[in-house]
Amino acid sequence: MAFIRPDIIRPPSEAASYFLPLTFGCSNNSCGFCSFYGQKLQIRELEEVKKEIDALAVFSQFGIHTAGQPNIVYYIANEWDGSRIFLQDGDALVYPFPQLVEALEYLNNRFPHLERIASYATAQDILRRSNEELIQLRKLKLGILYMGVESGDDTILQQISKGVTSQQIIEAGLKIKDSGILSSVTVILGLGGTDHSQEHATATARVLSALDPDYAGALTLTLVEGTPIYNQVQNKDFHLISPLQSLQELKTIIENSNFTDCFFSSMHASNYLSLRGKLPENKTQMLAQLNRVLSRNDFSLLRPEFMRGL
Ligand code: SF4
Repeated sequence: MAFIRPDIIRPPSEAASYFLPLTFGCSNNSCGFCSFYGQKLQIRELEEVKKEIDALAVFSQFGIHTAGQPNIVYYIANEWDGSRIFLQDGDALVYPFPQLVEALEYLNNRFPHLERIASYATAQDILRRSNEELIQLRKLKLGILYMGVESGDDTILQQISKGVTSQQIIEAGLKIKDSGILSSVTVILGLGGTDHSQEHATATARVLSALDPDYAGALTLTLVEGTPIYNQVQNKDFHLISPLQSLQELKTIIENSNFTDCFFSSMHASNYLSLRGKLPENKTQMLAQLNRVLSRNDFSLLRPEFMRGL
């Protein structure tokens, strides 16, 4: 079966990267809220990856198109400044290790001035790799891994079929840090619904503190048609939190997290309020901003529903 090139789903901080697909879908395609739910993982042939890297190198140097490459390659390459690569798709770290090493070596060889390579990774992917393997990847410029924590609450993790416990998530996050790769993690406001909002926020703050990542981002649950959570909402088995409750969760998380030096943000388009700052330095200001909006109970201060996105 021909490899399907994935749509570009990326962290906001990778906007300027070149998006190089190694896989399509996600190996852990069971998370009950996710747009990857039910998608079958496809591993791209290494030779095909190398051909795209070659085409990118030729285009970057001479502006020449190579036959056989799709237009999207040149569309992305036109905007690319040559410094960063983001490996697609949902958990590109699942790419078989020897081939992953070869792909990164090939990239480094063709683009010796690359600054950084990045990828999404599941906790399972990270736990499967040894410390030495992660260090080897870091030496090949894998500079940051984006891992979805979603919730720190084990019952919620089980309900969304995350496939790992909060303890395994912590182990995976610490392993990224040990290898010298930057860690960027995301949590999802509203994942416990109205029934478990407080437990979700408190447990998530606990796990974030244990992870002590370089970057942490909050997203807000956005329903994707066809996913288990979408169906539960339709059947009234899951009750979505209100926009202001999402800010209350955000406040609990910021209030109860203890970080050494973390850039924390809720800039993602799914959120009702965009906040960002360094924690712990900016904790007081960030909480004051949240309190101002919460105390006014004013929906006009929030991102309107129609402007929210995945
Ligand atoms: S591991 Fe991440 S990308 Fe994969 S299904 Fe779960 S949330 Fe989606």
